[in-house]
Amino acid sequence: MMQPQGRQAVTVMGATGSIGTSTLDVISRHPERYRVHALTAHRSREALFEQCRLYTPDIAVLATEADAAWLRQRLADAGLATQVRAGTQALIDVARDDEATIVMAAIVGAAGLLPTLAAVEAGKRVLLANKEALVMSGALFMEAVTRSGATLLPIDSEHNAIYQCLPIEHRDGLVRHGVSQLLLTASGGPFRGWSAEQIARVTPEQACAHPNWAMGRKISVDSATLMNKGLELIEACWLFDASPEQIQVVVHPQSVIHSMVAYHDGSVIAQMGNPDMRTPIAYGLAWPERIDAGVKPLDLFAVARLDFDVPDEDTFPCLRLAREAMKAGGTAPAILNAANEVAVEAFLEGRLSFTGIGEVVARVLDRQTVASADTLEGILEANRQARHLAQQLLDVKT
Ligand code: NDP
Ligand code: MG
Repeated sequence: MMQPQGRQAVTVMGATGSIGTSTLDVISRHPERYRVHALTAHRSREALFEQCRLYTPDIAVLATEADAAWLRQRLADAGLATQVRAGTQALIDVARDDEATIVMAAIVGAAGLLPTLAAVEAGKRVLLANKEALVMSGALFMEAVTRSGATLLPIDSEHNAIYQCLPIEHRDGLVRHGVSQLLLTASGGPFRGWSAEQIARVTPEQACAHPNWAMGRKISVDSATLMNKGLELIEACWLFDASPEQIQVVVHPQSVIHSMVAYHDGSVIAQMGNPDMRTPIAYGLAWPERIDAGVKPLDLFAVARLDFDVPDEDTFPCLRLAREAMKAGGTAPAILNAANEVAVEAFLEGRLSFTGIGEVVARVLDRQTVASADTLEGILEANRQARHLAQQLLDVKT
């Protein structure tokens, strides 16, 4: 097939999710710059079929062979030539496929670890939304970036903001560049200001109704417990080679400042914009250039004021648990992440209370011995064991 010169091929992993659909929206605004090479989903075969119709990728991936067979049939009926594959190995293969130069890593949770690492090891431009992958495997992940020469661009809005506020060559150390602190902003989630008694009875629907951002259900719950900010603190430590002490979490309910960098001379540089993930996605796709993202300009008069507050780590202990896990090092962040994934799923299914999430995570961290995280096998084993422990605790509770 003839391609206009200079068009870059993009693979979107987690295409049917919140970040995936926003990515395809930005891509569709720039047909002269980007084409879609591969799209992946887990079970959403109908949604993936619609995306194949719209974006005509070369390859589509689903989790099971049965769903892949269904999609193959639908595509054949529609006269489309997209190849369909199934399973984890297929995900890993598309992540490192030579055909694509840009890979959006937007699978949710630990399931994204192997495909995201595969894209990094293949030296792609990796747009990292899947923070759990980096939280689990931090040192190993960043070593792979250095070794392969991959270009890692953070998509998480806070990290994308920090990236924009840092000098381009910041990888050789923050202090050398005069940075004194990274200020990670947090909306505070839907239960900001609530008491422990009030949050004990909240429902999944309440937790998923974020005041400023429309996101997938898992990250919405993480935002409500502040575990999302905890995972982001760990993510920032690895991305910017910072210690937990160099990072201050600042509650900023308007979600207009996406994060800030403080310098030794007293300057604080902030990145601002409407809360719309298409801004960081467009930045990641086009960096170091800038392209239209379809995002409305920020109306400062409508925003009118910016508030700042300290996070309430007593009512929302997950942020503290994450900071402690980062300080403990080794497999502690992978354990934290795994226990959280199991607990959040149980909460979403009505099997665990909202405050139970932090309790399960704390107990798993108490019980499981932290090991060194210098091999992928060790990390995956810690992940497996923590899930098992968390499940056992849930079985006792219910
Ligand atoms: P969603 O739940 O909306 O989408 C997740 C995507 O991953 C879907 O395409 C889903 O497929 C796929 N997926 C789910 N489980 C698996 C699995 N086991 N194997 C392979 N694919 C799977 O999540 P979000 O888009 O909200 O979040 C994606 C990532 O981006 C997360 O790590 C999140 O923390 C991060 N992020 C998200 C932000 C947001 O605004 N949404 C902001 C910052 C970071 P299917 O549809 O078939 O289930
Ligand atoms: Mg974020």
